[in-house]
Amino acid sequence: MRVYNFSAGPAVLPEEVLKEAADEMLDYNGTGMSVMEMSHRSKAYDEIIKTAEKDLRELMNIPDNYKVLFLQGGASQQFAAVPMNLMKNKKAAYIVTGQWAKKAYQEAKIYGEAVEVASSADKTFSYIPDCSDLAIPDDADYVYICENNTIYGTKFKTLPNTKGKILVSDVSSCFLSEPVDVTKYGVIYGGVQKNVGPAGVVIAIIREDLITDDVLPGTPTMLKWKTQADNDSLYNTPPCYGIYICGKVFKWIKKMGGLEAMKAHNEKKAKILYDFLDQSKLFKGTVRPEDRSLMNVPFVTGNEELDAKFVKEAKAAGFENLKGHRTVGGMRASIYNAMPIEGVEKLVAFMKKFEEENG
Ligand SMILES: *Cc1c(COP(=O)(O)O)cnc(C)c1O
Repeated sequence: MRVYNFSAGPAVLPEEVLKEAADEMLDYNGTGMSVMEMSHRSKAYDEIIKTAEKDLRELMNIPDNYKVLFLQGGASQQFAAVPMNLMKNKKAAYIVTGQWAKKAYQEAKIYGEAVEVASSADKTFSYIPDCSDLAIPDDADYVYICENNTIYGTKFKTLPNTKGKILVSDVSSCFLSEPVDVTKYGVIYGGVQKNVGPAGVVIAIIREDLITDDVLPGTPTMLKWKTQADNDSLYNTPPCYGIYICGKVFKWIKKMGGLEAMKAHNEKKAKILYDFLDQSKLFKGTVRPEDRSLMNVPFVTGNEELDAKFVKEAKAAGFENLKGHRTVGGMRASIYNAMPIEGVEKLVAFMKKFEEENG
């Protein structure tokens, strides 16, 4: 039996995609082998990775002057790759809105001067700071954000005013959740295990002029974006199976109506949960309403014992992984693309019942 899986990542994937992958496990498309077993240089695999890229380009409307790279090492590896590839002046501006942004900021300090130009640490990262007029150094190579803060449940609704600098965005937990204007970014990247596929793949969408040989001295060959771009993500063995599943998820999103439809579906789900939280006497959302994420919804009862009781009883009722991040406590429901509406409706019904019994 499948449960409702509210994990922040690795996370729920569309059942249809899992079933299709299961059907193709022993014999992919008449090749007599699994995608796991085939050469990344084979004709069959070439078609898989090319089709995945083509579908992603279509979904996100990615202009021709942007490269799509399928990489490994997790989003965390890009925390280093970003400064290595972009720090020409050895200076960059970081907006610190949570733990992932902070990790990226700290990693950048190894390679140059990372300047924290805004932060929401003063209120436990429960809001997005005003980024309309920040003191961005004139010689900053880029401005960095984590667009959706997985742990704290905040999302940038407006992109920062970068004052003409390149915007670099970690979109790990909001990838393909709604339409984006790629042209506003220099680099968009994310680990796929939150909203797109299995762990092991990072997708980076990078404007072509930012992909050069002019990288920091000592940059490993594998971390140089140009290596990967020149070789169409096949410099070495890519995470073949993961990319194949991502490709299936892209097809699933296209079938669902693309990113506009995904956004509507995600808004509908998030509204059900936030509306309940806003009128509940027991449960409270922890994020400033205008900054709420559509993907990650943290909430608390205000009583740690009651939180623990809720998580335990929810699990017994088939709602998995509702415990909040270990650094913030409480609960968090991650309601990514593949979470069906009835999953959220049933969760809310369960929360109502819990409130009646424990209010
Ligand atoms: C999960 C997450 C990461 C870390 O991803 P890894 O693939 O484990 O390195 C980075 N940024 C955000 C926004 C995340 O949600």
